[in-house]
This record gives sequence, C-alpha cells and structure tokens, in this order.
Amino acid sequence: MSDDTRTAPASGALTEPTSVAAQAADTLSAPAGTQPAPADRPRPTTPQTADALVWLGGESFERQTIAVPTLGVGESLIRLTTATVCGSDRHTVAGHRPGAYPSVLGHEGVGRVAATQAGLTVGDRVVFAVTSVCGTCVNCRRGLSAKCAQVAKVGHESTASGWPLSGTYASYIVLPRGVAVAVVPDSVPDAVAATAGCAVATVMAVLDAAGDLTDRRVFVNGLGMLGLTAVAAAKSRGAAEVIAFDPAPDRGRLAEAAGADTIVTADLPGDVDVAIELSGAEAGVRACLDSLGIGGTAVLAGSVSPGPQVAIDPEHIVRGWRTITGVHNYEPHHLVQAVDFLAGDGADMPWEDILGGPIGLDDLPAEFAHPSPGLRTVVDLS
Ligand SMILES: [Zn+2]
Ligand SMILES: [Zn+2]
Repeated sequence: MSDDTRTAPASGALTEPTSVAAQAADTLSAPAGTQPAPADRPRPTTPQTADALVWLGGESFERQTIAVPTLGVGESLIRLTTATVCGSDRHTVAGHRPGAYPSVLGHEGVGRVAATQAGLTVGDRVVFAVTSVCGTCVNCRRGLSAKCAQVAKVGHESTASGWPLSGTYASYIVLPRGVAVAVVPDSVPDAVAATAGCAVATVMAVLDAAGDLTDRRVFVNGLGMLGLTAVAAAKSRGAAEVIAFDPAPDRGRLAEAAGADTIVTADLPGDVDVAIELSGAEAGVRACLDSLGIGGTAVLAGSVSPGPQVAIDPEHIVRGWRTITGVHNYEPHHLVQAVDFLAGDGADMPWEDILGGPIGLDDLPAEFAHPSPGLRTVVDLS
C-alpha cells in the first residue's frame, strides 16, 4: 500500500506499550551494578549492528552494516527471520511511486523481540503494522490512525533519518512507539505470518468497511495477494457466494483454491451485496460500481495512485441505497484480526502457489529485476 497512512496506537488487544514502568522492566541492558539475571534465564546481548540491504534508488542496492541505536522509551528491536516482498516495493524500485533513499525497503516481516523498551516480551515471535502513528492528532483520536497526521512508515524511511532501521530487508528492525505489534502463534509458518502486516491486515480493514458478510454475495475484483486473501476471508466470514475476477487466467484458478464460488472472465456480476475493488484499474472500479444491487456497498482499496476519474450516476446511488467507500491502510485491531485469520481459515489458502522463493538478501536486487513466480517472494533472514 502506499502513501501517507497511519495506524492508531494499538488497541488493548495488541501487545503495546502500556506504561513506562512496563517498558523499563523489559529493558535488556541492565545498568552496571544491578543484580545479574538468573543463570537459567540468560539475557541476550543487544546487538551493536544490523546487516541490511540498502536501496540506493533505481535498481541499485548495497549490503551495509547499520548501527543499532539505543532504544528509547516505547521502542523495540526485532530480530527478523522472514520478510515477504510486497508489490508496492516492486513499484517503488521500478520508479512507479516515490520512495526515500537510501533506505531499507520491506514492510512485511516477522521476527522475535530481541530488546524492548515497550513492555513486549523478549523472545516473542511478532508481526507489526506498516505505520508508526502519534496517537494524539485529530485523526488518531477519532479512531482513524490509518490517516495519522504525523505518520512514519515501516520500510519507507531514509537511513539518514531518525529511523535508519525501518525496513524488513535486514537482520533487525527497530519499531518506534506507535507501531502496533501482534504475537504470532507457533502454528503459523514464518512466510505466511509475514504477509499479515501489509496485505492481510489491509484486507481485514476492507472487509470491516464492507459490513456483515453473512449470507452476502461478494464480488472481488483483482486477484493479487489482497484479492486472494479477500476471497478466503469473505468465505470465512460467512459469505454465501464469492465471485472473483482478474484478467489473468491463472489467478482464477488460485481464487478457486482460495474458496471462490464463481470465477467470471468477461460477463460481470450484477446485484451483488458487496463489491471489493483491489486492482486499482479504472475498469475495475467501474465494474464494482455497476455490480451493486439494492443496498450494496462498494469498497475501493486498489486505487493508491492517481488515475482517471470514474463517473457515478447519483440517482442510481440514491434510489438504490448504495454505498461507496474507500480504505487505505488499517487500524491496529486489523493486525490482530489478520493473525487470527492466518491461524484459522487462512491456513487453507493455496500458500504453495502464493509463495515464491525463499531467497536471501543478496538475491533481492535480481528478484526486483526478474520477479519469481508467485504472489509473495519469501526472503529468508534467519
Ligand atoms: Zn505492502
Ligand atoms: Zn496521529
């Protein structure tokens, strides 16, 4: 996903900084002269440096060693074990969307807490949100932290900024205060868990915007990682029928494996209760608007870069009680929902076809030039 989104500070369900006392209690480096940790609970040593693949702009990358900063209150250090390559990183490297550089790209990842000043538990396996949010601006306070006025984003900050270790293409990432964190059950494989932070959590926000899906007819347009997840999650939420479209024929097969009831190739569906637009294409937006039945809701989430305007017929909207809404990024509770989904019905998604790789950090430049098959290339950082 792109741009200026913010997630609000985590809700109660998230493992979030709760108090300064809790944060201090988990600090790794105890002051000199204090009681040493018990011998049966050796405390890990906070690393001094991280090994990162730094993006230099264009298709240029360089392996660099970056100093691990002293953690401030509310911050945590995560030892990354796996990252996945989101399509938006490919757009950045290809020059289709702006990005700060030099920087550590990558915003989907999973790892273990190595050190924390945020009250997390060292050793916990966690995923994290794509946004660092302030929690105090107007949008954060109204529950729209996805649009925090002071957002910073995982995998989008320059190494010369105050957040050099912001991305997941590295051995460690620093999570500032305001990045929501969720613990991952052992049953969820690393590569699957890594998708929670961007693709799957975003889909949770999209489905929330669509309302109750029980017994609904749901149309999903665009069958990339988000679309396949939307298909599976809509079925999981009780949709009576999920209809899926993508111009690429092989995506229809994947959607069927993800639980789609009907694959359409040319004739678009009509009278659907919910239409989910994830392609960003003008034709996709048009198809979703035109497919809505009485009382239907269209959720647009694919249009994250400038595109042509799409006309609407206001009378059609008014007389049909139709709703059009947009979603960009997500709230902290959607990250928890994403992990729950991946640990539940999401485990049955066709992951063997979705995931490509694994590759190593040094393989990433070639990966951007010549993408692996699959919707998510797995980067092994262990
Ligand atoms: Zn992404
Ligand atoms: Zn804010």
